[in-house]
Amino acid sequence: MNDHAPNSWEARAAQYALYGFTDLPSVRDRGTVVVTHGEGPYIFDTNGKKYLDSNSGLWNMVAGFDHKGLAEAAKAQYDRFPGYHAFFGRMSDQTVALSETLVNVSPFPRGKVFYTNSGSEANDTLVKMLWFLNRAEGRPQATKILTRKNGYHGVTAVSASMTGKPYNEVFGLPLDGFLHLTCPHYWREGRDGESEAEFTARLAAELDGVIDREGADTIAGFVAEPVMGAGGVIPPPEGYFQAVQAVLRRHGIPLISDEVICGFGRTGEIWGALTYDFMPDAIISSKNLTAGYFPMGAVILGPDLSDRMQAAIDEIEEFPHGFTASGHPVGCAVALKAIDVILNEGLMDRVREGAPRMQAGLSEIAGHPNIGELRGIGYMWALEAVRDRDTKTPFEAALSVSERIANTCTDHGLICRPLGQSVVLCPPFILTDAQMDEMFGKLDAALKQVFSEVA
Ligand SMILES: *Cc1c(COP(=O)(O)O)cnc(C)c1O
Repeated sequence: MNDHAPNSWEARAAQYALYGFTDLPSVRDRGTVVVTHGEGPYIFDTNGKKYLDSNSGLWNMVAGFDHKGLAEAAKAQYDRFPGYHAFFGRMSDQTVALSETLVNVSPFPRGKVFYTNSGSEANDTLVKMLWFLNRAEGRPQATKILTRKNGYHGVTAVSASMTGKPYNEVFGLPLDGFLHLTCPHYWREGRDGESEAEFTARLAAELDGVIDREGADTIAGFVAEPVMGAGGVIPPPEGYFQAVQAVLRRHGIPLISDEVICGFGRTGEIWGALTYDFMPDAIISSKNLTAGYFPMGAVILGPDLSDRMQAAIDEIEEFPHGFTASGHPVGCAVALKAIDVILNEGLMDRVREGAPRMQAGLSEIAGHPNIGELRGIGYMWALEAVRDRDTKTPFEAALSVSERIANTCTDHGLICRPLGQSVVLCPPFILTDAQMDEMFGKLDAALKQVFSEVA
């Protein structure tokens, strides 16, 4: 099980570290890739091997792995004021400055921000806010949260309950009152002969039916990613958010946009909500918020939820919630720099300019008969492998096709992520054309190799 050289990095990792979200057979066979440093979109392991990380770490290292300005912003803030909280009426100047910036770059005319250390905690915080303000407003029964199957919202007990993935059954999750609607994936979930518009209408009708069945006054909110990320990069079907929002507005239920992946440029706009032209009631942010250079999440409330939260807080003169490191000054200084880099140093523009090239290159690769669907937008794409393209029949699960593809890519020096039977590509925004071509070449070679083995 652990036959790596004694005392090697791989052996020590196997002995001392517990792996989260890891395909154990792969790591047993291959050992852990122990990473020491990065350069641009590349990472290097303890054996000196270089990999192009086409997943930006975990979607978040959008400025690459050695951005000088981001590291300097952190260093300068460590020198000035290395840590503080945001409790008891105190917070750092950086926390104030970032809150102002976040409201200004949000789609909201005004709003308020609350900080966490992660996206999971931001979703958890949002749910507690909704529970808190509904109780204050005399609706203690309004607790249920609606999300979608395959949606990913995190791993804390609440955010895992929001996540619509079957793997959470091993924890006895979801908790009661977390309801998962149909995954908005037209290619997989659309019925024979159903148009995309009809599919959207069916999903909106389903939502309406669930609200009627449960009672609108028992539902606290609907939370959705503009494009599902960890569910396999699933852009919404045509008109989806307009149809869903009309139903929610009719019932007075807030729509929360989980922008942990989409936010700050991944879809080519600053928010996924902008790309898909809807106005959420609140935004959840993390990942790109600090370009991955500091762990941080944020809940950004729009005007209505800000006012209602403030009124609920005024009533008991306190919101009894917060993390020790909420609004950490170094995190806030890094986030301020990251937002500046993404918006003003052209990173988001590069996504917009590079997206058609990325789509064209992947479309060519997707010509392979064992690719069933290419889907995505901006710099987030997935290729889904199939045994039979016409019937959309997947490969036998025992073949672990997407793991094989990812492992073969790793051998070729390309990091990409297996997700179900799909392979995900979400490179850093700094990728050059030559690096994009390197990604296409390595991916294509790995796919051809694996498909020839399993065909
Ligand atoms: C990653 C992710 C989260 C969870 O963020 P963590 O920082 O891992 O807790 C929540 N929502 C979405 C959409 C994500 O992609």
